Amino acid sequence: QTEINEIKRLIRDIPDFPEKGVIFKDITPLLKNPRVFRISLDKISDLIDEWDFDCIVSPESRGFIFAAPLAYKMEKEFVPVRKPGKLPYKTYSISYELEYGKSTLEMHVDAIDKGEKVIIVDDVLATGGTTKAIIELVEKAGGIVVGVACLAELTYLNPRQTLTNFEIASVIKY
Ligand code: IMP
Repeated sequence: QTEINEIKRLIRDIPDFPEKGVIFKDITPLLKNPRVFRISLDKISDLIDEWDFDCIVSPESRGFIFAAPLAYKMEKEFVPVRKPGKLPYKTYSISYELEYGKSTLEMHVDAIDKGEKVIIVDDVLATGGTTKAIIELVEKAGGIVVGVACLAELTYLNPRQTLTNFEIASVIKY
């Protein structure tokens, strides 16, 4: 509990970012504290330790900050999901509604093997819209999503309503 409080203390609220009415959870103070950043990664990996998967899929850019070290620690594959035009090879593409605006994401067509078990990792789970879009990308590629893991879940935006039928692990719930 004290560790959870340490993590919480290093996530700050930024009102009206990136738009009026949105309270943005800013994780950059956490990244400035090597010990607590490490604790936050260990907490995520503890939560998903028993999950059966081979691959971590994650959206740019804050997702990468947690997904890549987790892939290293847990010795899993890492697959980046990116904004349009960033990935060099052929991609699957998906457009979706966001908490603030509209967006498109892409993933390489050969990033995931048919039947491969995959989890999705991001920093913050808000409405679940981004994660839902990534699930569609993974399923287009023939992968199987076994769960979703994040550092912080904004329960007041009801992401679990969007992501029914998936295991969800979050270190901190707001
Ligand atoms: P969702 O699609 O509404 O679940 O929003 C999640 C995506 O937007 C993730 O990729 C997050 O990184 C980002 N996001 C939404 N709200 C916040 C926030 O308050 N802090 C940091 N990232 C956020």
